Amino acid sequence: MPDRDNSEIARLQAENDRLYNVLEVGALLSSSLDLDVVLDSLMAKARELCDAEASSLMLVDEEKEELYFHTIKGEKSEAIRGIRLKLGEGISGWVAQEGKPVLVADASSDPRFSRKADDSSSFHTRTMMCVPLKARRRVIGTVQVLNKNGDRLFDEDDLRIFQSMGNQAAVAIENARLHTMATVDGTTGLYIKSYFKARMQEEFRRAKSKGHPVSMLMSDIDLFRNVNNKYGHQGGDQALVELAGVIKETVHKLGSDDIAGRYGGEEFCVLLPESGPERGLEVSELIRKNIEKHPIPVGDNEFTNITISIGVSSYPLHEEHIHEVDDFVKLADEALYLCKDRGRNCCSLYEPGASPTAK
Ligand code: GH3
Ligand code: MG
Ligand code: MG
Repeated sequence: MPDRDNSEIARLQAENDRLYNVLEVGALLSSSLDLDVVLDSLMAKARELCDAEASSLMLVDEEKEELYFHTIKGEKSEAIRGIRLKLGEGISGWVAQEGKPVLVADASSDPRFSRKADDSSSFHTRTMMCVPLKARRRVIGTVQVLNKNGDRLFDEDDLRIFQSMGNQAAVAIENARLHTMATVDGTTGLYIKSYFKARMQEEFRRAKSKGHPVSMLMSDIDLFRNVNNKYGHQGGDQALVELAGVIKETVHKLGSDDIAGRYGGEEFCVLLPESGPERGLEVSELIRKNIEKHPIPVGDNEFTNITISIGVSSYPLHEEHIHEVDDFVKLADEALYLCKDRGRNCCSLYEPGASPTAK
């Protein structure tokens, strides 16, 4: 077989391998709901498949009309993390503004090139390939790979592959954003009631079938009406956001599968999968204490101290009283009213037979 045919076969084989790799990326995208993990793997793969020294993904900050780095893969990643580009600034800014991909053979002679990132990282950009990320015809960011190894140039084949990876990234970002919009309360950043209930149902079913425990907390702010009366509804709203932040951070720091939601106006709930009543009370005490010691802003330079009460229900401990999943909430609510009876700023486990008077 002539050499020319052999090299053509080798080229096709290499192209084939790269396409399989892109298909693998698709599987990777659908395997995780965690966007950061997905984009991290995607950009690592882009660097590998394009045989580039560095790769990165930038997102558009609509309000400031700037691009900022979301994911960076390369040796100098930390040095450029905080850099922002105006739309229209640099190659990526140009791509974001024009919505068109570019192949840059020699960055130093391209008038669009910005030295900002190179200067702060002592990286030397020679060649570059940059593709816009589009969702519903809007540019939401860019992906770029820099310096093809071996002093080679990125070519049209590279661009095709990279473009398809960019499209996958854009879909993943858009899906994650839509998911957040549909499940998270815009004011507090906690899950909305319907999503929380769906998750509760799912965890409850799992707990039952596996014989594992699950607990839930229901909290209510103490004498919140007084906060509204004293600082106005706006001050109350500000306090709510801050309180939700404390709950979210406390739960997040625990690093488990726990999820926090906004159940009503000033009622927050937390679901603790794989957790019995001891952990339920432990986590509620942690949240209660964190809120107690946290000065809550209620106006310009004005702070107050707010406390909350938390009721806990737990499966299978309260199995006898839980006939359907809504009972799980009802029991936590009953326990919450026990706290109000007991003088507020405390946590209680549901007690069968105890009938709170504050209800
Ligand atoms: P308790 O200790 O018994 O819970 O006393 P409380 O004053 O907190 O009483 P309750 O929980 O029954 O009432 C809560 C108040 O919270 C009533 C309502 O006006 C206010 N509230 C509910 N949702 C919101 C909200 O989204 N923003 C603000 N600012 N206030 C809210
Ligand atoms: Mg209430
Ligand atoms: Mg209240």
